[in-house]
Amino acid sequence: MQENVVPHNFSVSKEDRVLIKGHGAFLIWFTGLSGSGKSTIANALEKRLHLQNVHTYTLDGDNVRKGLNSNLTFSPEDRKENIRRIAEVANLMVDAGLVVLAAFVSPYINDREIVKEIVGASNFVEVFVDTPIEECERRDVKGLYAKARAGEIQNFTGVNAPYEAPLDADIETDTTKVTVNQSVDLILEQISIKLTQ
Ligand code: ADP
Repeated sequence: MQENVVPHNFSVSKEDRVLIKGHGAFLIWFTGLSGSGKSTIANALEKRLHLQNVHTYTLDGDNVRKGLNSNLTFSPEDRKENIRRIAEVANLMVDAGLVVLAAFVSPYINDREIVKEIVGASNFVEVFVDTPIEECERRDVKGLYAKARAGEIQNFTGVNAPYEAPLDADIETDTTKVTVNQSVDLILEQISIKLTQ
């Protein structure tokens, strides 16, 4: 079916849009266990960027799983498709000139590699929210660990599904050691060059 899809050459490019926006456009991808702090840090980072007049959008499980990906389960194949679609959406948003923040458990190295391929390595910043599972489980923000331990949830990352930690993330933060603001500062420092492009 794709053989008859011929892209049209549009005259306004990402570079043109970035010029108007006045800052670089790229994807900040948060990975880590449920309850590790991905959404909390992404939210605080987005607030700080917004204050600096940076055009942002945050993609997370709630706004994607309930809409675009509402037909997907948590099986490995569907997790892969979930991430692929998110990456394609993020790619369009980056092309539109936005700084996109994405907070997803995304437990498989291979799936995160696919995200990097889709948006391009130079547009991809990986943040590993490396909070120990004991702490995530103690927080149990959504009560999901208790349910998973009780056998009520299948394929729950860290309990009965694997989490493959990044080997070479751009930024790593352990929220048992640093505050939300310190994590945000760390990320802002790391992305400052990309923002000025
Ligand atoms: P995730 O998006 O990774 O599932 P959440 O951000 O929803 O995780 O939940 C993380 C919880 O941990 C929040 O209740 C947050 O307030 C708490 N928390 C405590 N200390 C920190 C910290 N230093 N950084 C981030 N979150 C923290």
